[in-house]
Amino acid sequence: MSISSKLPQVGTTIFTTMSKLASDCGAINLSQGFPGFDCDPVLVDLVTKHMKAGLNQYAPMSGVPILREQIAVKTKLVYGVDLNSETEVTVVSGATEAIYAAVTAVVKQGDEVILFDPAYDCYAPAIELNGGVPVFVPLELPDFSVNWENVKSSISDKTRLIMINTPHNPSGYVWTQEDLDTLAELIQDRDILIVSDEVYEHITFDGREHLSLLTHPILRERTFVCGSFGKTFHVTGWKIGYCLAPLKLTEEFRKIHQFLTFSTATPLQYALADYLSEPFRYLTLPDFYQKKRDLFCDGLKNTPFKFTPAQGSFFQMVSYAHLSQESDYDLAVRLTKEIGVASIPISVFFSDKKDHKILRFCFAKDDPDLMKALGKLQNIKL
Ligand code: PMP
Ligand code: GLN
Repeated sequence: MSISSKLPQVGTTIFTTMSKLASDCGAINLSQGFPGFDCDPVLVDLVTKHMKAGLNQYAPMSGVPILREQIAVKTKLVYGVDLNSETEVTVVSGATEAIYAAVTAVVKQGDEVILFDPAYDCYAPAIELNGGVPVFVPLELPDFSVNWENVKSSISDKTRLIMINTPHNPSGYVWTQEDLDTLAELIQDRDILIVSDEVYEHITFDGREHLSLLTHPILRERTFVCGSFGKTFHVTGWKIGYCLAPLKLTEEFRKIHQFLTFSTATPLQYALADYLSEPFRYLTLPDFYQKKRDLFCDGLKNTPFKFTPAQGSFFQMVSYAHLSQESDYDLAVRLTKEIGVASIPISVFFSDKKDHKILRFCFAKDDPDLMKALGKLQNIKL
């Protein structure tokens, strides 16, 4: 029997590869993006409480009402935007599901989808599996900002969707009001929808504000905003997130969601609903992560790398282009094996796998681990 792959170019993700290598080598794992510390024990107690109370059967397809309401309350508090929790909020099994369901809901055979290059790894496969055609618009190095002239010239009559990600993985670039306004201007008279991946919405630095696409009246009517509790509450292993979209888009989104996963773990939903009732739990996140970013960047000053502190997300990119021609993949593997610090080579995020000699480090780790990694990085030979 022969199988014709639907994704012939796709192998195992770099996150799995580097995390395994880190584990095999006993290295400090600053590669895959997940916190190296545990979540608040209060959250674990809440899940236990709801499990013990017997909330262990299927949740409603769109999410338990109290969690959808709490998500709407958070959205009002943080962005000043009113959402109808019945018709505009859907709880899903992680942002990955939200992204896949949103793309599947609207992309048909031959539709063009604009995405920025580099992009998070699940976007292009979602487009291709739905018969869509990814159209890559390169971001402008070194800050990974958007070149709007390039976006404009990439829009065609076939463009159905634009996929954005702010704060951006891997660069940390945070969209500005001008970015939002320019996007709105470009698409307002066209039949183009948006998927906005905002999983790092609560992780921005130096007083920068995350501008959700929900805050823009023109963009809001045509956007699926995808969020993740994994990032916000240090529970990436729970795989729980949400999709915020206007009624008509939510209707189509739920048609896909109900056949992908149908619903998301019930006790987790009740626990998160309780936990969200205290806004300080997400409002203090920028400060929490800024301390880690600053600690990491301070230490990086004693290494040969060049860098600009990240604007958002829990990733810091570093360049070694001025020192060596070694490929970023080879260097990431070598650093893991030889000095015991794992990172991600960012060439994997580019559609053409172009090597800009940049590595990505995740600083969502305990301070002693960050210090230890920095100590090792000071001694590297490039
Ligand atoms: N989008 C981006 C930009 C990410 O970095 C990640 C990784 N966690 C996801 C989506 C997936 O989020 P989740 O784990 O909630 O599926
Ligand atoms: N988002 C995480 C990262 O960028 C990885 C999540 C995953 O492994 N799927 O590192």
